[in-house]
Amino acid sequence: MNHKMNNGWPYDHVEHWPPMTYRNREPPTSQILSDFANFLKNDGSSDQNKELQPWIPFCEGRCAFCYFAVSCDKQNVVSYIAALKKALALYSENNYVKSSVFTELYVGGGSPSVISNEQIADVLSFCREKFNLRADHLTKFTACTNSLSENKITALYSNNVNQLDIGIQTFNDSLRKTLMIRDGSRDAKNKLKLIKKKGLRVSIDLLYNLPGQTLEQWQDDITQALELEVESVDCYPLDLYPETPLAKKIATGELPPVGDDSTELDMYVEAYRIFKENGYEPTCHNRFSRVKEDFNKPSSEVVGTGAGFFMGHIDRFLYSDIEDIQGYISKVKEGSFPIARLNKISKEEEMRKAMMLIYIRVPVDRENFRANYGKFPEEAFPNAINKLKSKGLIEEKDGKIQLTEKGDPWRFNISWEFFKNA
Ligand code: SF4
Repeated sequence: MNHKMNNGWPYDHVEHWPPMTYRNREPPTSQILSDFANFLKNDGSSDQNKELQPWIPFCEGRCAFCYFAVSCDKQNVVSYIAALKKALALYSENNYVKSSVFTELYVGGGSPSVISNEQIADVLSFCREKFNLRADHLTKFTACTNSLSENKITALYSNNVNQLDIGIQTFNDSLRKTLMIRDGSRDAKNKLKLIKKKGLRVSIDLLYNLPGQTLEQWQDDITQALELEVESVDCYPLDLYPETPLAKKIATGELPPVGDDSTELDMYVEAYRIFKENGYEPTCHNRFSRVKEDFNKPSSEVVGTGAGFFMGHIDRFLYSDIEDIQGYISKVKEGSFPIARLNKISKEEEMRKAMMLIYIRVPVDRENFRANYGKFPEEAFPNAINKLKSKGLIEEKDGKIQLTEKGDPWRFNISWEFFKNA
């Protein structure tokens, strides 16, 4: 993306990611792996929300922009699911996980909807049997519309799946072709209607600032999402990764370039306006939602596994798994955690991370912060807090520090402020 300094902007570039994503993590040393294994012997009971994430990295075809570690070779599905269950059992057998209660089961990937109804039922019942999922736990399942037959939607519903998370990306057929999405907009929309008719909630992903996309096309995508009465929409600015077919076609001039930061920002601000006007509130990283659970306190821990899984978070350990499916299967066969990267963050880093709640639109309670870290946020991060307050990007209200409406488009930039010499 072109970087263009605009008068009145608090930063000269809109960040897309916060600090501490999995790409910044290290491969594990034997010491940290053994610290991790020892830690899991502790008691894990707490009153915090925890999430369980089995990961199924298969897709029917690769979308042109996709940078996830996914496989389109379904020959491996049977051996992969066997390995996944074994890896899940490695976690569930530990005291920490045994004594943990999970409020959400989230099946991610990939497009896990490509596996069979029997395999879906098998993975879900395995998780519910091996882990303490609270009786009222939510089950969310990632899916793509072209792998969702009526029969599969019925199977998901009868396996107590509450919500499907679907990568729609755009309803514009020409842009869908550019993105190499495998079904047309009319079919995709019919599937969304069917899912809702069957009683499931629908959350979709939309991408903006696509090559050649106009503001009107983007407004049209949002309008169609609203007409379909989806429960929530995650709006992501396109991130171009050089190895993807999309980036290559842009580099050779076969496709037009993506818009600059100013175009991207205008699209975000427009989405913010339209969603708010229609009763959807911003929440989480990139979501506009009208579902009350989306405004609950976020999960404090994510226990999960699978090839390419990257959200692992247990106490101060952050981990992600081996991406290659065969490599993942082999590691699990050895009886070892299939972890590729593992960090144990320090108390200081944990404190910085606690401030990052601001960017997911959760206010930071000053008194709780002091109870945990021995000082108020403004004592721990005087420069960052002063700077952000004076620019009107954050504010203090009822003893809590929170994002302002002006700060909302800059929330990722704001999260980085607490990782500088703050
Ligand atoms: S369906 Fe999702 S995970 Fe699969 S290739 Fe497309 S973008 Fe990637």
